[in-house]
Amino acid sequence: MRLARNLLALALLATLPAVASDGTGLDAGDLAVAAALRDQALAGTEAFDIVESLTTEVGPRLAGTPADAEAVRWAQAKFESLGFDRVYLEPVTFPVWLRGHERADVVAPFPQPLVITALGGSIGTEGALEAEVVHFADLAALEAAPAGSLEGKIAFISNRMVRFKDGRGYGPAVGARSRGAVEAAKKGAVAVVIRSISTNSDRFAHTGTMRYDEGVPRIPAAALSNPDADLLVNMLRRGQPVKLRLDIAAEHPGEYTSHNVIGEIRGRDLPDEVVTIGGHLDSWDLGTGAIDDGAGVAITMAAGAAIGRLEQAPRRTIRVIAYANEEQGLYGGKAYAEARAAAGEIAAHQLSAESDFGAGRVYALRAGVDPAAWPVIEKIGEVLAPLGVVTEREGGGPGPDVGPIVAKGATWAQLAQDGTDYFDYHHTANDTLDKIDPKALDQQVAAYAAMAYLAAETDVDFGTLPVRQP
Ligand SMILES: [Zn+2]
Repeated sequence: MRLARNLLALALLATLPAVASDGTGLDAGDLAVAAALRDQALAGTEAFDIVESLTTEVGPRLAGTPADAEAVRWAQAKFESLGFDRVYLEPVTFPVWLRGHERADVVAPFPQPLVITALGGSIGTEGALEAEVVHFADLAALEAAPAGSLEGKIAFISNRMVRFKDGRGYGPAVGARSRGAVEAAKKGAVAVVIRSISTNSDRFAHTGTMRYDEGVPRIPAAALSNPDADLLVNMLRRGQPVKLRLDIAAEHPGEYTSHNVIGEIRGRDLPDEVVTIGGHLDSWDLGTGAIDDGAGVAITMAAGAAIGRLEQAPRRTIRVIAYANEEQGLYGGKAYAEARAAAGEIAAHQLSAESDFGAGRVYALRAGVDPAAWPVIEKIGEVLAPLGVVTEREGGGPGPDVGPIVAKGATWAQLAQDGTDYFDYHHTANDTLDKIDPKALDQQVAAYAAMAYLAAETDVDFGTLPVRQP
């Protein structure tokens, strides 16, 4: 009797395909689980509590400081308390930069203080430095200046970032920050000040990383708040020489080893294949790193935890990564990618995504995968559609810390967030918890949980992408 019943069951199984034949490797049951993850997340998640915990109990966590070590301990304990199957650390080594004091004053013709902040990586002024200001509308204008024309002067670059939902105003503006010191020094300048790479009109200066080149003298670099940049432009417009005094202290105390903190939900069938989501654990020192990137860490930890609470884990492993030191050069993402390449694990990365664009709602799903796997992305998009998320075949790109492994051939997904006000707070003392809407976080957890679950439940291979030079 038992045998007969088993034979009947086998016969039935033979007539009912285990998965739909639409090329997605996902059946109605899988989609129902993903929809339930989505709807439970919308009803409220612990994401806000996680970012509240990080910003309150750790606060600013500049890479290489004692707060960085505290953030690593915090993330490890949080993954464990959220029930991840495996929690571990991987080393990430980088040079440390520490901010000291910073002050700027107009000395002449209209003496008054200015709001300024040193750019990450900048050297100090070694005592107060006084010099006349030379104005450039943008980096290209500075590059076009004759060699030697800024001997003994401070270069001032005043280009203003334009506001867009997708943040595309950042790219054209940010060269003044990253390259300004090198280009100004080539012309003989003793320092560079820029208008903050920012869309706000608050009197906050925005920091961010800058770099020096071998063979070009290192000069101090700082950013003025938007209204202070306006003030300086107005003074310069009067045609008299404008003289600034800068007093900036900074240290480069050597190398430090921090850690990527990783939590996994082990896959039930294909545990060596991984879907990664994550954010970066470090922040700049001025605010408490709520939107950049406490939010991303919280969203992806909460999404992973929700998948971990399912009765049955998905086929593939879900790996949530809290990356070390993104801000000063993607060190965590690079170390992660190097380690995976050395272990021959690039192709095992089925889909990688990072949340690092603030705390605004997700509005688009984009991906870079083998075209044969696109039906899976579209199926994920169908589950995300009720969240107001549109699937877009073109455009987008991996998050900053995912970039290095994508350059080695891994595939990526992007849940594009509304960044309309992101650059109002980005890298300032004003990046604090009150800027986060808990319901917006829930919507993002819903999107990440459903996407990661389906990407891990399907057995369709997302493939690899062409290897690119970083
Ligand atoms: Zn960030």
